[in-house]
Amino acid sequence: MAENPQKTWAATVLTLFPEMFPGPLGASLPGKALESGLWALETVDIRDFARNKHRSVDDSPFGGGPGMVMRPYVLAAAIDATAGEGGDEALIYLTPRGAPLTQARVKELSRLRRLTIVCGRFEGVDERVIEAREMEEISIGDFVLSGGEPAAIALIDACVRLLPGVVGAPQGLDEESFEGGLLEYPHYTRPNPWEGRDVPEVLLSGHHEKVRQWRQQEAEKITRRRRPDLWRRYRRDHDT
Ligand code: SAH
Repeated sequence: MAENPQKTWAATVLTLFPEMFPGPLGASLPGKALESGLWALETVDIRDFARNKHRSVDDSPFGGGPGMVMRPYVLAAAIDATAGEGGDEALIYLTPRGAPLTQARVKELSRLRRLTIVCGRFEGVDERVIEAREMEEISIGDFVLSGGEPAAIALIDACVRLLPGVVGAPQGLDEESFEGGLLEYPHYTRPNPWEGRDVPEVLLSGHHEKVRQWRQQEAEKITRRRRPDLWRRYRRDHDT
């Protein structure tokens, strides 16, 4: 058989704090996969592209106001020295102003060859560098972190667990939250009972079809209660 021409999936992280990596990505599942070469991680210190002798990367905002802004030419130089030619790649800026990250986008990103991920600090980066380098703006949720690094770790982790060979039982991935547009059903393990609480009877029945139906019902119930937004979309997509 011919060799798989696909190169290893890789993430390049542009950051002012390269020491934050691999961090959690060096442990457990992503860590083992990193060690065995199923994916690759590279960090680029944005400060290496600062021009003056103080190696400044930020400056005060035009128009006044609190905080500092990352200088466009420093970040652009870091991007130009690392990002590829597009194609099978994505250039991402993590920001609370970005498109909310979804499992669907994670799936697509895990099928590319390389992600270049820019971690902001301070109040963010100069708007013009986002435009000029056509960065895809992604948010990991409606809250504000002190920097993009924890968001990069979350994004990379979500992609890496979808790479072939990383998760031991890949069929588990098909049933997870968001996979069919629903949140996942509840899980139980031994002992039964525990603190007077019983495991739902149907799970002990050994009746696979009944178990499947129960899980589907529970997934629908929990989605309807907790995420009316997902529920509406699910109903729309499944209503014929
Ligand atoms: N002033 C900005 C927040 C800056 S937080 C605003 O109000 O939108 C500093 C950096 O943390 C950002 O540049 C971004 O890279 C990162 N960050 C913070 N929250 C994030 C989120 N929810 N998703 C992705 N990145 C985030």
